Amino acid sequence: MSDLAQLRVWDDPAIHAALSWYLDVAENRCPAKFRIAATVALQFDPAATSEDALWAELDDLTPIFIARWQAIRAGAPLPPAADGPSLLELCRELAYRMLTHCNFCPWDCRIDRAAGTKFGACKLAAGSRVSSHFHHTGEELFYRGTQGSGTIFFTSCNMRCAFCQNGDISTDKDNGEETDPRTLAAMAWTLRREGCHNINWVGGEVVIHLHAIVHAIALLGRDYAPTRAELARARKTKADRFFWFDEVPGAAVYDGRFNAPMLWNSNFFMTIESMKILRILTDVWLPDFKFGPGRCAMTLAKTPWYWETVTRNIALLDEWGEDFSIRHLVMPNHVECCTYPVLEWIASRVPASPVNVMEQFHPDNFCDPASAKYRDKYAEIARRPTHAELEDSWRRARELGLQFEITSFERHNALGM
Ligand code: SF4
Repeated sequence: MSDLAQLRVWDDPAIHAALSWYLDVAENRCPAKFRIAATVALQFDPAATSEDALWAELDDLTPIFIARWQAIRAGAPLPPAADGPSLLELCRELAYRMLTHCNFCPWDCRIDRAAGTKFGACKLAAGSRVSSHFHHTGEELFYRGTQGSGTIFFTSCNMRCAFCQNGDISTDKDNGEETDPRTLAAMAWTLRREGCHNINWVGGEVVIHLHAIVHAIALLGRDYAPTRAELARARKTKADRFFWFDEVPGAAVYDGRFNAPMLWNSNFFMTIESMKILRILTDVWLPDFKFGPGRCAMTLAKTPWYWETVTRNIALLDEWGEDFSIRHLVMPNHVECCTYPVLEWIASRVPASPVNVMEQFHPDNFCDPASAKYRDKYAEIARRPTHAELEDSWRRARELGLQFEITSFERHNALGM
């Protein structure tokens, strides 16, 4: 048993039940979903097939994949990987087809990002940039564990949160280094072999990089081993490269091959098509649920269709039997319009989910009065939440019976070690 599994946080039945698949993969007791996807054979070459036929095939193969996943959860062995193309390559091909009329997220820009002559709301062409990657020790305890969460930070975003707490990478699409799927795979491969408990795909926003990430995961599912040049390229953005991490290749292996849980850490402003692809590859999901059903997503983030998109996607996770936990950041002056409805929706639709009701909002980006970017129209959120606002939020979560206290307060009560 690893250090992760020994944390006392797993003694909590709600957390253990919500994240049991993730823990089994992190511990290499089970293969990651990408390993299972590689065992579901395709009968044709996806590159030579129409996109409509590819979606139809995904719909046909998903129930087979789910049945195999459930059997493995119940103790069945992993079948051998397909010799030819598999569900893994189908997902990769679909992501690249979507890129040519981009509908990764509800902006539905329908531009050809592969051509790179027009840009959508995320301002990206086909290239992806990574700002940094490292052993993240600031995530929730069940993700950071003792060795850190293997986090890969991408630039740019499909929302425009005035208060963004990562504004340097979400608003600057040129931050970091241009990368490619093989270099991304090298980052994930290294972080996991250095002991990280998961591979944490995050931004900015990650869904706008769907093609590159799906391609990298497909490589990891097909006996990928990085070249020296790829390792050197990956190292350029490794923020903790001057620390020494012992390589423990055995900690990254199931049944003799690479293994790691894939964590999708996202604003959840994604289309159903993106969700269908990610269902095959994601072992644990981390939706960020920010705004209530009113106008706040528009006034603070210039994002339409926010509530209906995010609630639909989180409800799908529950319907699909996925492992997930939710984050909600308490914002000043937005407890009644955002925090309360978000918590109430969670209580009514996904009450068993661990929730992190976060207190660390600070004025940043366009709502930081000390910044040249500051705009007066964001004065209402240009401060930290008050003690009373935080207490009201936690009291409401308690009244609703949410599973939030261990997740939100573990740093205060040293529950983990
Ligand atoms: S990811 Fe979203 S914002 Fe970017 S081009 Fe595609 S649909 Fe538009």
